[in-house]
Amino acid sequence: VDWSAERGWSDLSVEPYAPMTMDPGTLVLHYGQSVFEGLKAFRQPDGSAALFRPADHARRLARSARRLAMAEMPADLFLDACAQLVAVDDGWLPEEPGQGLYLRPLMIATEAELGLRDSRRYRCTFLAYPADPCFGRAFTPISVLTSADTVRAVRGGMGEAKCSGNYAASLLTRKRAQARGYDEVLWLDGLEFRWVEELSGMNVFFVWRDDDERHGVRLTTPPCQGTIMRGVTRDCVITLAGELGIPVTEEPTPIDALMAGARSGRLVEMFACGTAAVVVAVGRIADGDDDVTIGDGQEGVVTARVRHTLMEIQHGSRPDTHGWLRSVRKD
Ligand code: PMP
Repeated sequence: VDWSAERGWSDLSVEPYAPMTMDPGTLVLHYGQSVFEGLKAFRQPDGSAALFRPADHARRLARSARRLAMAEMPADLFLDACAQLVAVDDGWLPEEPGQGLYLRPLMIATEAELGLRDSRRYRCTFLAYPADPCFGRAFTPISVLTSADTVRAVRGGMGEAKCSGNYAASLLTRKRAQARGYDEVLWLDGLEFRWVEELSGMNVFFVWRDDDERHGVRLTTPPCQGTIMRGVTRDCVITLAGELGIPVTEEPTPIDALMAGARSGRLVEMFACGTAAVVVAVGRIADGDDDVTIGDGQEGVVTARVRHTLMEIQHGSRPDTHGWLRSVRKD
């Protein structure tokens, strides 16, 4: 789908996957006007396909585009493009539980001219890939490491936008964390390097033993204050945990409280969540040279319950009481 100042959004078409050519002066290559989304379609028990919360992804793409002074795509057009892509050959849609079709809408500036200003032309390309949850990784717990000298986002920056630059900002630190044997970076805030934010592509939740209530637990997650992604999965977890009778609050969490909680056993579980990985346990957390295992390092009962509940809704084996699934019908 293309956008120009003269014509608005036009020319929606479905085409075979192929390389695209670009003028070397294209604005996206120089100034980074590039935003994207990631959403999934799942096979339903009656054989049909359904998109998971596509309107929420459409809204977030529009918000990301606004932050980068790009054209906003109307939700109807976004939904139409996703539905046409899934329907064109829904034989792509994997049958196995846990699998889905991952859609990647990518919007870039396409005008070729070297001035520092927003583009007058954009293209949004929707790509589709069959995907396992976690892109092929089993639901084994991951380990995370904080960074003391780099940040992913700052107040007033672009942390809440799903723009390519945010991922570029995280690559070096991820590479360093992986070289030290950790799976992911646990990002802290950019002012005090103290408050826990998120991973490079997932939001985080903490399961605390509630001392007031015997054997009770409560969930917390960092608040969205402009520096972290408003994850669609995060929103699902908040809703579902509440329904499962687990209290959830959005509250700032200092890294030292997290490390101390893991050591004392008050932090009983931690998990990360996102469209690609769904829900995955965090078994180990490190801040500098301080490295602690959370619980027994394995997926805990709360994490497993939330994960199963969400996956059952996605695959249509549990009632979709929130209207999160949107059926894709062939015309
Ligand atoms: N944080 C970041 C930085 C992300 O890239 C993502 C993936 N979009 C998420 C969190 C999780 O968001 P969602 O649940 O909407 O996929």
